[in-house]
Amino acid sequence: MEQIAYWIHKRADITPNRMALITERSEDTYEMLSSKVNNMAAFLQNECQLKKGDRVAILSQNSAEYMISYFAIAQLGLVAVPLNIRLTATELAFQINDSGAKTILFETETSELYREICNHVYFVNAYLMEKIGKATEKNVRHVAVDAANDAYIICYTSGTTGRPKGAVLTQENMFWNAINCQYALDITSMDNTIVLLPLFHIGGIGLFAFPTLLTGGTVIIPKKFDSAKAINIIEEYGVTIVMGVPTIHEAIRKNPNFDTANFQSVRWFYSGGAPCPKELINQYLARGLPFGQGMGMTETAPTIFMLSREDYKYKVGSIGKPAMFCDIKIVDQAGLPVKKGEIGELLIKGPNVMKEYWGLPDKTKEAIRDGWFHSGDLMREDEDGFIYVAGRKKDMIISGGENIYPLEVEQVINELPEINEVAVIGITDEKWGEIPVAYLSLNNGSTKSEEEIKSYCQKRLAKYKIPKNIFILDELPKNATGKIDKSRILEFQMKSLEKESNLS
Ligand code: ATP
Repeated sequence: MEQIAYWIHKRADITPNRMALITERSEDTYEMLSSKVNNMAAFLQNECQLKKGDRVAILSQNSAEYMISYFAIAQLGLVAVPLNIRLTATELAFQINDSGAKTILFETETSELYREICNHVYFVNAYLMEKIGKATEKNVRHVAVDAANDAYIICYTSGTTGRPKGAVLTQENMFWNAINCQYALDITSMDNTIVLLPLFHIGGIGLFAFPTLLTGGTVIIPKKFDSAKAINIIEEYGVTIVMGVPTIHEAIRKNPNFDTANFQSVRWFYSGGAPCPKELINQYLARGLPFGQGMGMTETAPTIFMLSREDYKYKVGSIGKPAMFCDIKIVDQAGLPVKKGEIGELLIKGPNVMKEYWGLPDKTKEAIRDGWFHSGDLMREDEDGFIYVAGRKKDMIISGGENIYPLEVEQVINELPEINEVAVIGITDEKWGEIPVAYLSLNNGSTKSEEEIKSYCQKRLAKYKIPKNIFILDELPKNATGKIDKSRILEFQMKSLEKESNLS
């Protein structure tokens, strides 16, 4: 029953007329959705000749067909390989070759990219999703699926800390993520959830498309994010849950129609995927809009922490407490639990933790030890048991023997209203080993000098934490998921240092 296509077919029995999925081009009740899932499964099985375990790459913007494919793929025990359409053809070819996908589903609008990929990949089968979505064949042979052990999705991590790794998620992982989200946010059949994240991202399906469909609520999926369009949809459809990464909430806040009157129906604005500046959260709270934060990662399908209804006003900046069916511990270098208030690495155990990294047994062994997934994220617990992200292990700067967590410095700089975005990185230094430097961009029309920023930091941070240099750029480089790409900033920094030493 944790087999996820079962949810849709069961819902079609018990709540056939309830609205399930709304996109720009379609409105499907559960009964209609169930029938479309069956038709697509029949097509994949009979026309595409796909068998259990075969990998199916998907290259598409958000659409009804995308969601339908996820359920049809689950029904047949196939493995979805969702591709990030912002990547280049060679980056995508790496993921396709790595996963061994011999079939790709693409849409008309990604056909150009698909053709470019073909220069690097040999596909046996390629199908237009729109065409499959219109399939009417009904004859699906039953496939026995082991929801706990069979691979269901190979989702490539965004590669913030190195080459993307394919996290292998099972249907059971997705089931427990849905349950965890429901317990934390009380998602019910009355909820209308808007999905503003791409469906190729684990957040797009896990937060909260799947949880909402499991409870019999309605999911609304625009093709891509646009703040004006999102605000219109929220008002028109009485959206109750708006999930996004911080940049999405920031874009909604900056829209001239950011007005409480347009958000009467919303009971949750929810953020995750990257650190959310407190200032942004406070802007929502000041208007009486409920704004919560959670934290997760691709490898955990994705939810680990969530801030709940009774706490979001009092624990601004916290990612909340662990989800119901997910154990965590925060440990020191020796693997021993740290005391409250101290920073340590987050370990996770639970039915939402991935099975493995695809084709990387050594990386899997390194990441999952004694059943505990080592996240590489650094956390701190407060007196009341609420968790705060302190940074990432790989980002930590050690200067003269002192640990500096870039996130702490970034949070202080972010308090200045002129700052648009900031990244603090460590660079090597003869005297101190490493020193922090900051790269940032300013809001349109704002000015702020390096000296002013440093003097703001002086009152709030120990001397060794204050960035020694501050570089103001037009924009910081981002990776394909929209996160600030510190490795590119480091490269840039190294190049300018090389240039300087060549000149001297
Ligand atoms: P890679 O694993 O390839 O380096 P990535 O870690 O960016 O890439 P994702 O799974 O997309 O891959 O992102 C998960 C990471 O995002 C978490 O490990 C954490 O560092 C960060 N993150 C998620 N939610 C939050 C949050 N609310 N606050 C701070 N950081 C967050």
